[in-house]
Amino acid sequence: MTLNLHNYINYLFKIDSKQKLNKELLKIYEESKEFSNNYKDPYYICSNEELLGIFNTSWSGSQDEPSNSLIHYAISLYWFEAISFELYRSVLQELESHESLSPVILVVSYWMFWKKKRRAGKSSRYSFYSFLELIRKIGLRPLEFQDFIKYTKELFPNLKLSEKEIEIGNDLSRIIKNIQERPQYLEEFSSSISSDTMKLLDFYIDYEILSELAYFKVKNISNNIELDKKTSISDFQKIVEEEYKSRKMKIVPTTIDPVLEPHLSNFDPKTVAMEDLASLPKEQMKEFASITAYSSPKSAHKIRISFLGGGNIGNMGILVQHDNNAVLLDFGMSVANYSTPRWHPSLKYVKAVLVTHAHLDHTGGLPYLIRPENGKRWYATQSTKILTEKLLHSTSSILRSNGISKKNATPFQNAYLSNSNIVNLFNVYNPLKVNETIEVSPGFEVTPYSASHIYGSVSYKLDVYGTTILFTGDFSADKSELFAGAKLPTDCDVTIFDGTYYDRKIEETDPNTVILQAAETCERLIIPAFSVGRTQEMIKRLERLRVSTKKSVKTTGLSADVSKSMGLKAKFDIVKNLTNDNFEKGDIVVTGHGMLQGGTARKLIDETSSDENTGILICGYQAPNTLGFSLKNSHPVALKKYNQKVFTAHISGHSSSEALNEFIDDLSGKKVMVHTPDDSVLRVDHKNLIIPKYNQEIVLKNKI
Ligand SMILES: [Zn+2]
Ligand SMILES: [Zn+2]
Repeated sequence: MTLNLHNYINYLFKIDSKQKLNKELLKIYEESKEFSNNYKDPYYICSNEELLGIFNTSWSGSQDEPSNSLIHYAISLYWFEAISFELYRSVLQELESHESLSPVILVVSYWMFWKKKRRAGKSSRYSFYSFLELIRKIGLRPLEFQDFIKYTKELFPNLKLSEKEIEIGNDLSRIIKNIQERPQYLEEFSSSISSDTMKLLDFYIDYEILSELAYFKVKNISNNIELDKKTSISDFQKIVEEEYKSRKMKIVPTTIDPVLEPHLSNFDPKTVAMEDLASLPKEQMKEFASITAYSSPKSAHKIRISFLGGGNIGNMGILVQHDNNAVLLDFGMSVANYSTPRWHPSLKYVKAVLVTHAHLDHTGGLPYLIRPENGKRWYATQSTKILTEKLLHSTSSILRSNGISKKNATPFQNAYLSNSNIVNLFNVYNPLKVNETIEVSPGFEVTPYSASHIYGSVSYKLDVYGTTILFTGDFSADKSELFAGAKLPTDCDVTIFDGTYYDRKIEETDPNTVILQAAETCERLIIPAFSVGRTQEMIKRLERLRVSTKKSVKTTGLSADVSKSMGLKAKFDIVKNLTNDNFEKGDIVVTGHGMLQGGTARKLIDETSSDENTGILICGYQAPNTLGFSLKNSHPVALKKYNQKVFTAHISGHSSSEALNEFIDDLSGKKVMVHTPDDSVLRVDHKNLIIPKYNQEIVLKNKI
């Protein structure tokens, strides 16, 4: 028997008494050819100084690395409390500085430590978290959770981590990966990170990102907490924990950002005499003040652009004000947490809302904002109107099927529960045509341009007394299966543009290769796709790749409805009730929900979960906490349940990084980027881009 770490450690774990161990140790030591003659005696427990001496000699001599046996010896000595924690720490640190501290040694050390603690009756809880705490105490580099699991399994096959434990660890790894790869979604991620996890992230994540995350975390819990981003992490943590405790909740809640109703409904500010104003409650005074501020003669020559949401991908909402008039560009919701754009006092007085396209991150807030009684109207192309109607009704039924009723709904969700409310919205719709200019509010002339993002999508150019503002909405400057690629004006005074892929090169395999491979290797294939846009793009592409001639391409539900009403010209069949029974070999089903949170795609995936010959091709953006996200990122819990083959192909309705760069370079005015990675902190800005924060205002001087 040689001194083999694996055997040795396994063996140590089987031993109960010191005497027995020593006897066994003797056997091991005698059999170990590597072990120095000086230390043959297993009963000899050296002092800390002596041990350090051994290590020093071993490392300073001809040997570059300390021998494994010495390391094992140190570990076992520590286990028997023969050396202090400090010495143990210095041994491990020394090993690390020699780069001989393998993850195996770390994991062994941990389990030794844990075993020792347990023997002392101190703590029976072991976890990856306590492991991290131990190595934090020692001051070593952290270890990936996956490696921790791997080595634990190798070294101690009988040691079982609980499922919960594994799930928490995997979540931690996933969060770290997500944050590192997609810092632009920090705000979305923040809602799913527990306070416990927050504490451990600083091991892996840069301080800058961490403080942003903490900021969002606090803002998630309550919008009423005042803070600025310079608050230290520990203060953030305290605030989070206090809030957490005060609510006695197990999970830090995700709040729905309410659009608060203002208190000015009872009077028209323009008709109120100054004397009456003085008697207004303070809160109403504040709101009134902000309305009068920009209508004063001094500010009449200014145009103000306020960003109420949508800096990140989510709840788009941009307010453009001039004199006593204002228009609103989009009013969406974040699909990740149902939040809407922030309230702004002037929203009360906006009459015209310009909607770029039907996606919910641009339209989802409309049922809440536009009511029959408040005199607001909205503008969009006919296709956008048709698609918005379908998407809002489907959101309403999703909420209902998730058990949301009038009793438990937030005011925002409530707006979706009343059918007449959505129907009313379409009574105040006004059509717009591409390339035709109209005046939507005094002084606001609007021209829509085709945006090549989805059916009906447009960019808007506003001309406010000679000052021009272009809002691209979501747009693609690249050619796709469905659209030619947007050609937009580049000479506006301000261009507010969709920066989804700014500086984000997609390095996945060519999507066509993946599609062909998935179609060839799977008997049946499910392609979850957004009903509006991706489904039709995918059906077209399947035809161009000649997949449709060999396979039978099918769609159903809202995807089918949209494909039909938009007159999609391609080879595909519409099936009414698609289940596992009529989902046959040779079928490719393209249908929603694109992130697998419901819909036919989810139903089919659940029904075929045990079939390894069925494939799932994920092709769009997946928000965290969705099944699509878990499958795309190979979450073990998801993989355990779903045995299908998973493929991912990147297909997008947004400009590629290259095309976007060209567009930005051509712009002559102010360049404002929205719908984008919010990581201005991390990036050296070389293109003079403005990346607005929530509620930030851009003020322009009127030319006339
Ligand atoms: Zn969109
Ligand atoms: Zn969007």
